[in-house]
Amino acid sequence: MDDLRHGEPLAPRTTLGLGGPAEHFLEARESTQLEAALRWAKEAAQAVTVLGGGSNAVVPDAGVLGLVLDVATRGLAFAKEGERVRVTAQAGEDWGAFVDRMVEEELAGLECLAGIPGRVGATPIQNVGAYGQEVAETIDRVRVVDRRTGERRELAPEDCAFAYRDSMFKRDLGRWLVLEVDFLLTPGGAPALRYAELEKNAPPVPTLASVKETVVALRRRKSMVLDPADPNTRSAGSFFTNPILPNDEAARAIEAAVRAGVVEAPEAVPRWPVGEARTKLAAGWLIERAGFAKGTRRGAVGLSTKHALALVHHGGGTTAELLAFAEEIVAGVRARFGVTLEREPRLLGVD
Ligand SMILES: Cc1cc2nc3c(=O)[nH]c(=O)nc-3n(C[C@H](O)[C@H](O)[C@H](O)COP(=O)(O)OP(=O)(O)OC[C@H]3O[C@@H](n4cnc5c(N)ncnc54)[C@H](O)[C@@H]3O)c2cc1C
Repeated sequence: MDDLRHGEPLAPRTTLGLGGPAEHFLEARESTQLEAALRWAKEAAQAVTVLGGGSNAVVPDAGVLGLVLDVATRGLAFAKEGERVRVTAQAGEDWGAFVDRMVEEELAGLECLAGIPGRVGATPIQNVGAYGQEVAETIDRVRVVDRRTGERRELAPEDCAFAYRDSMFKRDLGRWLVLEVDFLLTPGGAPALRYAELEKNAPPVPTLASVKETVVALRRRKSMVLDPADPNTRSAGSFFTNPILPNDEAARAIEAAVRAGVVEAPEAVPRWPVGEARTKLAAGWLIERAGFAKGTRRGAVGLSTKHALALVHHGGGTTAELLAFAEEIVAGVRARFGVTLEREPRLLGVD
């Protein structure tokens, strides 16, 4: 393979800016290049790690062995389908630019997902979501290569088993390479206003464009839009997912909060029912109440000053420092509330 590079630094390709190099690296601009790279790796017995925009990825300090495949394929196609429009996006399309374009085209369904970094191909992996919207609501097909067989497959939403920040892709990370994603969007549809904070800040007559702008402004306030001038954005977004627990476990965590004097009454603990049997707790709230205030520092890493869920790299740090701080937080939350937080970003080459 002609374009193969060796010892390529990965830190500049991630939003955290941490970690070592890729043993082998290929930036693939065509889907045929992606498939050729997979064949090369199989023949050369090299592990393959897929990389998009690096905004939900942690790179180990030792780097990543085998081939890191940078999915940089571009292209959009539009097709009218009854009342809706099918938009097919190549996996390497920039997500933020894609959402901007859909809003410009007056296509509803993704407007609350503006300002999220990364590329289209990664959005089904963790069912990207924000401000009351998730990609699973509009994804109609995901075209993939099954890396076990090398075959192309077309997956329907029910095959993807989408859930909160989860999908079958995430549960079986080594198996799938996403090539393109089809979204079914609604021309001239109303913007989604389901999230209290968004509803409160949206203009009186909301449009797709104004709701998108409101989302971006809210995200900016929390340092959740990439901005080189904002040191809080050198992160991987939320480092932990909100725990969704069986009701009895959530009740025990809430009791623990009262016992520890964190709150006076159980009602003061933020929680949301998930179906009848489960309850979602707020990971950021648990972290702060376990004693990790926003802005807490451990050398070169710390918590964002605006968002207790974002672990930030202040420069000159290591992935080991970041993961040690993450472990300290997990242990602190477990000790106080009996809840084990789950890491959201993937540890490349390890997970
Ligand atoms: C400031 C900030 C704010 C964020 N806000 C949000 C938010 O509001 N909501 C949210 O859900 N997320 C958020 N994130 C997380 C992140 O932006 C998303 O998860 C995004 O979809 C990751 O895309 P990426 O291309 O950067 O993926 P990467 O970080 O490159 O990869 C993430 C994982 O997906 C896999 N992957 C990537 N592309 C493919 C592909 N084509 N085929 C198969 N596997 C692939 C990788 O192997 C890796 O395991 C935020 C991150 C940051 C830094």
